Amino acid sequence: MSGKKKVLVAIMDGLGDRGCPEFGGRTPLQATPTPNMDWFVANGSAGLMDVIAPGVRPGSDTAHLSLLGYDSHRVYTGRGPFEAAGIGLVGRRGDVAFRCNFATVDGNMSVTDRRAGRIKEPDTTELVKALSGLSFDGIEALVREGTEHRAALILRGKGLDPNVTDVDPHELAPILESKPKAPPAAATADALNRFVARSHEILSKHPVNVRRRKEGLPEANILLPRGAGSFPDIDPFPEVWGVRAAGVAGVGMIKGVCGVCGLDVVEPPAVCTGGMDSDFGAKMAKALDALGGYDFVLVNFKAPDVCGHDGDAKAKAAVIAKLDKAFGYLRENMPKDLVVAFTADHSTPCGLLDHGGDPVPLCIYSDGVAPDEATTFDEVSVARGRIGRIRGMDLLPICMDLANRSEKFGA
Ligand code: ZN
Ligand code: ZN
Repeated sequence: MSGKKKVLVAIMDGLGDRGCPEFGGRTPLQATPTPNMDWFVANGSAGLMDVIAPGVRPGSDTAHLSLLGYDSHRVYTGRGPFEAAGIGLVGRRGDVAFRCNFATVDGNMSVTDRRAGRIKEPDTTELVKALSGLSFDGIEALVREGTEHRAALILRGKGLDPNVTDVDPHELAPILESKPKAPPAAATADALNRFVARSHEILSKHPVNVRRRKEGLPEANILLPRGAGSFPDIDPFPEVWGVRAAGVAGVGMIKGVCGVCGLDVVEPPAVCTGGMDSDFGAKMAKALDALGGYDFVLVNFKAPDVCGHDGDAKAKAAVIAKLDKAFGYLRENMPKDLVVAFTADHSTPCGLLDHGGDPVPLCIYSDGVAPDEATTFDEVSVARGRIGRIRGMDLLPICMDLANRSEKFGA
């Protein structure tokens, strides 16, 4: 058995598309020259991938879980835990996570501003500090601030149940009392209501709000939880595969998936904005850099998905051309014993303005892999490749096998 290789999986978010009138019925990927991606295809294996299953439209969260080898139907529990993990509040089995807003309520506990005047750090940082370490009959509350008025809350303790209703009324109305949707969730709803009442008491008196009152700004005198979800019962990726693993991503939800799966999150450089002007080469360089300290690195490029949601096929083509340059950087700078897989987490067809259930193109390259008939990277040409058509969950085992990291099944 020869030596173990490292693995790089590059996800171009929402890359896949359908025929666009702007390109005479071709997809943005078909219409754009991608000499570097094509080089990998010509020297590697190609195929199509149904990220969840044929015709199923994935979210980016369920898709990334599948691409990391998990059965998303089994482990996915809703977006709350991934959003919490995305801002660095990574829970564990049994924790219940909520998305929250800092908001303003009047004397009758009626919401007058759902975003507390779009309050942001450093005010939110101070307020979150005042809420840390609260506990209610053995149930601990952990809070962390997100961007602007957003925050996340985790309840930790024995016998918690995510089947509780929101406190957030989602409109300018009196706050709601959280209720259990089933009897076993009664203690969780009770702890949540007590947390909200206690946080209101603490926040109303907090110096940040005293100052905001004087300045005529809306006070952030309450935290409104919604979207309860339990942390998934997940076997950590590094334990499953026996590797040191990292994710390079800027998007909160993707960072959250990485965090929940036990990958270290590596922040991309500031020039990687996540938008059209993002420096993809710098992100690819960061991913290659991370391979110095990790055996497995996943890198996510968000921009193609944004173009698909905007319905802008021309912008998507421009993003693809820029992404191809980043693959040129990879081609020139990658170490010899590396397995490279690149694909999309789903299609985001410009004509659909949302995620589609189409299969996505996939290329797997490693020095010494037998090249196949496919020579160009797009939604159609890759079908000539020897990978054929696989599901997202199959990607990781194939990569780990090529990296000489999988266990033999049988004698
Ligand atoms: Zn996505
Ligand atoms: Zn999307």
